[in-house]
Amino acid sequence: MSGGPILSTEAAIGAHTVGVVVDTPRHAAVDPVLDYLSEQPLAPGTLVRVPLGARDVPGIVWRSAGPSAAVLQTEPTDAPPDAPKRRLKSVAVALTALPPLSAEWCELLAFSAAYYQRSLGELALSVLPPELRKLDDVALARRLKRLAKAEDERPSRANGLADSASAAPELSAEQAGALAQVLAVLDAPGESAPSPMLLHGATGSGKTEVYLRAAAAALERGRQVLVLVPEINLTPQLHARFAARFPGHRLVSQHSALTPAQRLRQWLLAHTGEAELVLGTRLAVFAAMPRLGLIVVDEEHDASFKQQEGARYSARDLAVWRARQLKIPVLLGSATPSLETWAHAEAGRYRRLAMPGRIGGGVLPEVRLIDMGQLPRVPEGEERVLAPMLVAALKDRLGRGEQSLLLLNRRGFAPVLHCTACGWKSGCAHCSAWRVFHKGERTLRCHHCGFTEPVPRACPECGNLDIHGVGRGTEKLQEQLAELLPGARVARIDADSTRVAGSLEEQLGAVHEGEVDVLVGTQMIAKGHDFRRMTLVAAVNPDGALFSSDFRAAERLFALLMQAAGRAGRSAEQSTRSQMWIQTWHPRHPLYQALAAHDFERFAGQQLAERRQTGLPPYVHLALLRAEGKTRAAAVEFLDDARAHLPATLGPVRCYTPVPPTLARVADVERMQMLLESPSRPALQKVLAEWLALLPKLRTRHRALLRWAVDVDPQGI
Ligand code: ADP
Ligand code: ZN
Ligand code: ZN
Repeated sequence: MSGGPILSTEAAIGAHTVGVVVDTPRHAAVDPVLDYLSEQPLAPGTLVRVPLGARDVPGIVWRSAGPSAAVLQTEPTDAPPDAPKRRLKSVAVALTALPPLSAEWCELLAFSAAYYQRSLGELALSVLPPELRKLDDVALARRLKRLAKAEDERPSRANGLADSASAAPELSAEQAGALAQVLAVLDAPGESAPSPMLLHGATGSGKTEVYLRAAAAALERGRQVLVLVPEINLTPQLHARFAARFPGHRLVSQHSALTPAQRLRQWLLAHTGEAELVLGTRLAVFAAMPRLGLIVVDEEHDASFKQQEGARYSARDLAVWRARQLKIPVLLGSATPSLETWAHAEAGRYRRLAMPGRIGGGVLPEVRLIDMGQLPRVPEGEERVLAPMLVAALKDRLGRGEQSLLLLNRRGFAPVLHCTACGWKSGCAHCSAWRVFHKGERTLRCHHCGFTEPVPRACPECGNLDIHGVGRGTEKLQEQLAELLPGARVARIDADSTRVAGSLEEQLGAVHEGEVDVLVGTQMIAKGHDFRRMTLVAAVNPDGALFSSDFRAAERLFALLMQAAGRAGRSAEQSTRSQMWIQTWHPRHPLYQALAAHDFERFAGQQLAERRQTGLPPYVHLALLRAEGKTRAAAVEFLDDARAHLPATLGPVRCYTPVPPTLARVADVERMQMLLESPSRPALQKVLAEWLALLPKLRTRHRALLRWAVDVDPQGI
């Protein structure tokens, strides 16, 4: 026997039994609330370490049963039910210096675990700071004392972004209208939960100012505020704005790029209520905040609010749940809301706050669709870099000292290398994907598994020397533009150009300083950045998404193009109206037509009608069972077995046969998936819960299976 001491019956008299949630794969199938003894009463929500097998593992007290009568109880092991009962072990460490996690927080965790079909312990330990596990009560108490009086290192000061308080500007009429509604909700007596609010504001309509005012109001009322943003890259800017506006308040960030020590510190500050503002990426939706009074989700449509591994939760959806639980307002902001959110607003379940105008009366850029099919042919053997009128427009901006942005959602020089003699292509040996030709680093690199080799001099199959890139990525476009626009300063921002820490900030800085004339980039630069001198944005080759098998591709493209367009013409002083150019072979496509009219409503209407007709979200709810194996057969066998073990009564739930995802093989792992759908969310949840209780046992029969996971409300199918 190892681990904690086993109490004798005598010693246990007066001890307390507590049910503790732990994370252990062995018990993953059922929610593992294991009973332990404690000499002191421990409130639910207390963090502990408890012996399990040969180790001490972290856990959360889930229930406390008072002074213990039942000292003898089984541990939930795999032992048969008639096995001799074992004595309870004692809690090894209890972090009583830390205020227990609130009942509301535990409820949020329980809901999330149940909804996304994960075990409580796994989810808890993935959302709490890992450092918390290492501390003992004494160390923790010391740390908390330091935090409480730490005037020294206020994070907003530490990074030097906020030196002076910024005065609040006078609100536009639209902003004032939107804010009034938020305030009304904030002050409404908390009888029932207020409807979530959709702040549907054009790019440049001043949504952030509404967030700031709403936050100010919540802070005045002594409440904490949680602001979620889609990307870490966007946090420094927003952090600076909030810090500047609220110099007297403590502001912390929570995202995955923090060091473990920082993460612990920021988490503790929020949990103890010392920090009044928490700003973070999706993980922050689980921030423990005892006085939470307002949640803001900026760019609520963004796909990165959905966690793509482990517990695949949607932070946006959980934010809405959390607000309802606490009966507090939640503000979802976007220029292009997700169709889920839009459908809620259309149905009157969400309150819509509309801000269609731009601050200072700035007009939205004029959208120009270039019909690529109508252009004169280029001579044989030559390549068209850009449509002639777009080139002319770029030169025009150059002459006026204005900036342009070219959007191309493909990095590298060419997406694939090709031999004209034998047809060889630069496939990845480990994935069902092409390796991308990176000219600068002279490599063929797989963007999925990282497999990289020097570019071959000749075709590896036939020795032919005439191998060349097919298609074009940002690297090539940058090179071509430099030739096309002599003297222009052409920069590129994408995942390749920004791999070194700090380089993104540096490159963005150069753009802001006016050191760049033409910026080439991927979707990375379409979001959030406020480029003052930018008067032209062009999408070089956006058509692919129109015919994608991904049912959200059109929605994403529309949002991306709207956002990109929003980078232009944000300064009202600009003499010329800014423009968004789109090179397309399908200028009459309804998506582009709606875009040209800046008509999100029309686009959303079209899309929702289509989704309704084809039975897709938000009209149907989906879940995917994903399986990964060394062979495709291994993955399929597991899924087939799982399918054979579906609950007898499925009701309105349908289960389809296994299919490979778009990217079927990655890093020598074969992937397959199986779709479940239902018009009824509760029906789907019921089936999943019943079914997933069986799957861990089933899994043991499939030795060649590597992993399986369920994805509720998947982003794609
Ligand atoms: P959005 O997030 O809706 O695209 P922002 O919040 O970034 O828009 O606002 C656009 C610009 O307008 C920012 O530079 C912001 O400081 C400025 N701004 C916002 N509200 C006002 C206002 N009421 N008066 C003057 N400037 C404002
Ligand atoms: Zn060849
Ligand atoms: Zn690969």
